[in-house]
Amino acid sequence: YVELKNVNKSFGGFEASKDININIKKGHLVALLGPSGSGKTTILKMLAGLENADSGDIYIAGTRVNDVKPKDRGIGLVFQSYALFRYKTVYENIAFGLKIEKRDKNYIKKRVNELIELVGLKGMEKRYPRQLSGGQRQRVAFARAIATQPQLLLLDEPFAAIDTKVRKELRGWLRELINEVGITSIVVTHDQEEALELADEIILTNHGKVEQTGTPSDIYNNPKTPFAAAFLGDNS
Ligand code: ATP
Repeated sequence: YVELKNVNKSFGGFEASKDININIKKGHLVALLGPSGSGKTTILKMLAGLENADSGDIYIAGTRVNDVKPKDRGIGLVFQSYALFRYKTVYENIAFGLKIEKRDKNYIKKRVNELIELVGLKGMEKRYPRQLSGGQRQRVAFARAIATQPQLLLLDEPFAAIDTKVRKELRGWLRELINEVGITSIVVTHDQEEALELADEIILTNHGKVEQTGTPSDIYNNPKTPFAAAFLGDNS
């Protein structure tokens, strides 16, 4: 469903992605897991069209998207840095993409209310981002990202800025929500526990390469390289 074939990407002389081969099944939630600088975000950006691959092919839902504009790739983004609109309410933030699509008012109202219910923010429609907790903001970001029913959801360290206790709660929440919505999703994280708990499949990255791919129990129980063993074992 989502595929990267022999994908390479350099910045100057630095190889951020080296011969990346990835295959993701429809409906799966996949974690891109690896240390800082290992190339996780670069993979996500190439899928989103925010960076172009130097070589190789990228497919989303059967279409080669290398030359497709970001806005036409059918992708929803929840980036840590992809903040909410500060001067728009929760309702307006979620409605944004639907307005761009020129949906009619009644449809937008129905869809936004449905999403507000889905992410558990009923009664907060008129609040501004600054009047929400970090966790609530990420709920809005999630609702905004799926409002237009994208074929792929990309999340870059969605809970990194949130304290540990709430992060655990949000993790469970996100897993259930993705099951409910049934959307193919890729989440970038450097947190082993998060990847092991959340994902159907883990793609472990190291120095711009895919080190190992497998289910959480595969990777945890049968690490194939010393790096994989050390990274999964290191819970510091
Ligand atoms: P982190 O967890 O710290 O976000 P990451 O695994 O997501 O790390 P990337 O953001 O993909 O890593 O970066 C991989 C490497 O490519 C890093 O060494 C980074 O400095 C480099 N890099 C990424 N984007 C650029 C860019 N636009 N220009 C130059 N170098 C870049």
